[in-house]
Amino acid sequence: MNKRELAKFKKILLEKRDELLADLDQFKEREVASKLKDKADENSAYSFHMADVGTDNMEREKAFFFATREGKYLAHIEQALERIDDGTYGICPDCNEQIPTPRLEAVPTATRCVPCKEKAEKN
Ligand SMILES: [Zn+2]
Repeated sequence: MNKRELAKFKKILLEKRDELLADLDQFKEREVASKLKDKADENSAYSFHMADVGTDNMEREKAFFFATREGKYLAHIEQALERIDDGTYGICPDCNEQIPTPRLEAVPTATRCVPCKEKAEKN
């Protein structure tokens, strides 16, 4: 994938992330949400890492958010942004082929091409 396409998908993903972070604001108490947002601004790729989830209230709320559909989607977006940064975005890890651009346009967080995804789901 060329740089221009990568930049396009990065923009799409960042916009979706902003939307989800706005949902997160509504979902949570204001103070907690602003802490999370500050974190997201500091470091885009690794801002929401499940490994850091602890036991205090804020961490529990964060974990709860990640259990929701929006939270899971947000995690997928973070992972897609990581792949853009490390140069593996748009490449199917199973067959090492380029995922077709129309599929990525429909599902920017897709990790696999359609045949490999269907295979993975069957197993
Ligand atoms: Zn594949």
